[in-house]
Amino acid sequence: MNRVLFLVLLMPLLAGADDRFAKVEITAQHVAGSVHMLQGAGGNIGVSVGIDGTLIVDDQYAPLADKIVAALGDLGGDRPKLVLNTHYHGDHTGSNPTFGRTGTIVSHDNVRVRLVGQEDFERSGLPVVTYADRINVHFNDEEIEVIHLPSGHTDGDSVVWFKTAGVIHQGDHYFNGMFPYVDIDAGGNVDGFISNLESVVAMIPADTKIIPGHGPLSDVARLQENIDVLKATSTLIREKLETGAEVSDIAADLDLDYEGWSWGFITSERWVQTIQKNDS
Ligand SMILES: [Zn+2]
Repeated sequence: MNRVLFLVLLMPLLAGADDRFAKVEITAQHVAGSVHMLQGAGGNIGVSVGIDGTLIVDDQYAPLADKIVAALGDLGGDRPKLVLNTHYHGDHTGSNPTFGRTGTIVSHDNVRVRLVGQEDFERSGLPVVTYADRINVHFNDEEIEVIHLPSGHTDGDSVVWFKTAGVIHQGDHYFNGMFPYVDIDAGGNVDGFISNLESVVAMIPADTKIIPGHGPLSDVARLQENIDVLKATSTLIREKLETGAEVSDIAADLDLDYEGWSWGFITSERWVQTIQKNDS
C-alpha cells in the first residue's frame, strides 16, 4: 500500500489513542522519605526527588511523558536523570524514548533484549546500563537495591527497594486486589510469581510501604493477603480443572467467592486460562 495512504488510514486510530491519553490525569502521593508514587494510565510510577535530581521507576505510555514531567515538577523535580525499568511491558516503558534522550535507563538484561527485539522501539528508549542479578543505586541519600526476580511476571522483572525510605516498588509482581497478569509467553510463571512474592515478604521489614505495579499503595499485610488469594485460587482452579470442570464454570465460582478480583484485563476466566496455559 502507498505509504502516505497507509498513514492517512491509520490517523483516526492514532488520534483515538491520543484522545484516550488526553483525559488521563497524573496524581501524586507521598510514600516515605524522598519517595512518591504517581498514578495515571499504566503501571504506577515510583519517584525519588532530592538533592541529586529526579529518579523514576517505570514511565507509563509515550503520550503521557509531558504530563509525567509536569507532575515531577510539582514535586520539585525535573526530567529524570535515572529511569529504572521493572520490566519491558509497554505500560511501564512507553516514555523511555523521551526520557532516554536526557537521562540514563537502567534495567535487567532481558528487558533490553526484549525491547531491542521490538520493531520500531526507538533507540533512545533502550536501557544503557543492565544487570543480571542486582544493582545498587546511590541517589538522593537513598540506598536503593534493584533486585531481579526469576521467572514470575516475565523473565526480566526486578523490584526496586528504597532501603533508606522503607519503600519497595514491586513492578508487576503485584496487582493489588486484582488477579495478576502472568506473561507466560515472555517467560513468566504462576508458581514463580507466587514464590517471588513470598521471597519479597521474607526479605523486607514488616513496616515497609509497597508500591504495586497496579492498584493502590500497600503495606506488607495487604501483600500477604494478596499472596493468600493467589495461592487459594490457583489451588482451587487446578483441582477443578483436574475434575474436568469448564473454564466458564470455574470462573463463575471465582466471581462469587472472590468478588472484585476480576477486572478488565485479567477477568476470572482469563486467570483460569492463565493457570491452564501455565500447566500445559
Ligand atoms: Zn507488566
